[in-house]
Amino acid sequence: MSVEMTGPLLSSDPEVARILGDELDRQRTTLQLIASENFTSPSVIAATASVLTNKYSEGYPGRRYYGGNIFADEVEDLARERVKALFGAEHANVQPHAGASANLAVYLGLAEAGDTILAMRLDQGGHLTHGSPVSITGKTYRFVSYGVTPANEEGTGERIDLDLVRDLARRERPRIIVAGTTAYARIIDPKPYREIADEVGAIFMFDAAHPAGLIAGGVHPNPVGVADVVTFTTHKTLRGPRGGAILCNQEHAKAIDGAIFPGLQGGPLEHVIAAKAVAFREASQPEFRDYAQRVLENARALADALSKEGFRLVTGGTENHQVILDLRSFDEGLTGKVAQEALDRAGITCNRNQIPDDPRSPFVTSGLRLGTPAETTAGMGVNEMATIAKLMGRVLRNVEDEGELARVREEVRGLCQAFDPYPDTK
Ligand SMILES: *Cc1c(COP(=O)(O)O)cnc(C)c1O
Repeated sequence: MSVEMTGPLLSSDPEVARILGDELDRQRTTLQLIASENFTSPSVIAATASVLTNKYSEGYPGRRYYGGNIFADEVEDLARERVKALFGAEHANVQPHAGASANLAVYLGLAEAGDTILAMRLDQGGHLTHGSPVSITGKTYRFVSYGVTPANEEGTGERIDLDLVRDLARRERPRIIVAGTTAYARIIDPKPYREIADEVGAIFMFDAAHPAGLIAGGVHPNPVGVADVVTFTTHKTLRGPRGGAILCNQEHAKAIDGAIFPGLQGGPLEHVIAAKAVAFREASQPEFRDYAQRVLENARALADALSKEGFRLVTGGTENHQVILDLRSFDEGLTGKVAQEALDRAGITCNRNQIPDDPRSPFVTSGLRLGTPAETTAGMGVNEMATIAKLMGRVLRNVEDEGELARVREEVRGLCQAFDPYPDTK
């Protein structure tokens, strides 16, 4: 149980303190391989847990609706200046509560209900907010979807089908073209999208929710200055608090700010904005560039080792922090759901994921998505990635053997002990 992190809760609310302590224990004794997760620094956690949670700050710095915002203004300005410098942007909005609200704000600010938006299909690697019928985005706008090219033996398939993007853009004349994915292990070059958007007079939005930290760390091309608007989450590879942000040029600044407040949200979470400021500073340090590099090296090492275990890699490999496995090559009958649950019992946390043209439903799936951002933060390197691949192979060859799962669980515990993400917390 963490004394530092639960502090006064220990005596005032032992029930919640116990749960928080158990969650800390789970995070440090099991492997965190969910590609969208990370371990934030104690400084980010401290800012998130600060008294700024008490403050109402509807509006923007210098133009608030309530009094007493002198320090809220200061911290939000600091966050905006830091993130603009980090990515080279003209304008920043750091108020989105999440990546989903950032995306919705762009649609709300720059399109009309019913307008056509071109984006990646969910089952090909896109996100719910890219027009899924169950999302408000899909209910409000007319989404047209592109996907990836077919898989092939050489491993050069399953890439974003830019010819299809161009054809659909010419035919459908979308108001907005969206680049960005939630499950795709390749670099996304923003330039071809820019050309297509210019040709058809569309706005180009780049959803960098996943690669934001890789962009800040210099290992993924920067879409800022190429795209009209860039949205991202602050909690994935960027390693900040849960939340979102939007970067754009001056031309769109007013529409974007108005869409976030008063369009979509009420008061901003200034404590989270303070934590975003902390994370933006951390991401601007030279050590963060090394971190981003190691995230990629670890993903490549994990992918190579899993391929040797007999798993097919979707797209044939990885160029970012993700590894996407097609389980059918390993075991035709093994579903993503069964695999995820067996791995969970063995202390290996990841998520099932549809692979392109998956015959199974999104609830069952034929794939797994893995990511290296969190365990790289904890200090793991390529040797640990090879160990993890072997442990995963053992689990997935023995999904019904609880004894074997328990043995792997103990080995995972030993591995995690040597790489504690919070070594200074009891
Ligand atoms: C994670 C993600 C989002 C949404 O982020 P939330 O903070 O979960 O709302 C949006 N787009 C993409 C591509 C994502 O991967």
